[in-house]
Amino acid sequence: MTILLRKDAATPAPVAWDYIAQCPPNVHRIPAFNDNYLWMIADPMGAQCWVVDPGDAVPLIEASEALRLRMRGVLLTHHHNDHQGGVDDLIAHASQAGAKLDIYGPVDERIHPGATRVGDADWVDLGFAACQVIAVPGHTRSHIAYHFPAHALLFCGDTLFAAGCGRLFEGSPQQMLGSLARLARLPQCTRIFCAHEYTLANLRFAAAAYPGHTAIADRLAEAETARAGEHPTVPSTLAAELQTNPFLIGLVEQSVGLPMIEDSALRVARFAELRAWKNTFRA
Ligand SMILES: [Zn+2]
Repeated sequence: MTILLRKDAATPAPVAWDYIAQCPPNVHRIPAFNDNYLWMIADPMGAQCWVVDPGDAVPLIEASEALRLRMRGVLLTHHHNDHQGGVDDLIAHASQAGAKLDIYGPVDERIHPGATRVGDADWVDLGFAACQVIAVPGHTRSHIAYHFPAHALLFCGDTLFAAGCGRLFEGSPQQMLGSLARLARLPQCTRIFCAHEYTLANLRFAAAAYPGHTAIADRLAEAETARAGEHPTVPSTLAAELQTNPFLIGLVEQSVGLPMIEDSALRVARFAELRAWKNTFRA
C-alpha cells in the first residue's frame, strides 16, 4: 500500500519511518508527566518561542534556556490542567526578566484568566508565523486547535490523536465527529501535533476494530518498534491518519482503504459505537 507521507529533505532522520513524521527544525517536543507532549515553536532566527499547552512550566523553562529562546507567548487548546497548569509559573518566570507573555485560549471561564479569548476562524499572530483557530468541540465543549496553513502544522490538543481521538468528556459523538471531519479536510501533508503519546494503545484498538487492515497492521508494527526504542510516534501526518485512524476511516472522501459511509446518521452511530468500545478496550 502506498504511504502518503512527505519526507523532510531538510531534516536528516536517524530512522526513516513511514507513519511517524519529523518535527520541523523549529518545533521542539518537550515530554512531560507520564505521556504528555508540550510543544515549543521557535522563530526562524532562533531567538523567541511560543509554547502550546504548557501543563508543566519546568521542562519548558529548562528547554527554553537550553535552546536560548526567549518565551513570547502561549497557545491553549482547552482547560484541562495537564494543558494549562504551568501558565502561572511561566508568567512569573517571564516577569522576572521583565517580559510579558501573550496568552491565547478558547472562550471558557475555566481557561486561565490571563488568556485572550479566541474562537473559530480567528487568527493568532506569533510575529514570525500566523495560525488560525479551528473550533473542535467534543473532548471539551470549548476545545480549539491551532492551524498554521503556511507551514502545514496542526496543534490539536486532545481532539485528534495519532491513530485515535480524545474522550468525549463534554461533547456528543456528533460534535466530535464534526470536529474530526473538519480536521480531516485539511491538506494531507499537514503534520499533526497532538498532546499525548497514546499511539501504541490506539493502534492496538485500531487493529481490533479493523482486523486484516494492512496499513493499520503496518503502522502498529512500526509504533511497536519506535516505542521499544523509546522513540516518539508524534507528530504524524493527516495522510497517515486518514489511512489508519479508526475514527477517520470512512469519515471523509479522502479516507484510504475503505469507502466513505454515505449516510451521516450511520457515520455518527458508527463513531459513537467505536468511541464507546475504545473506552473499555484493553489490548
Ligand atoms: Zn484534555
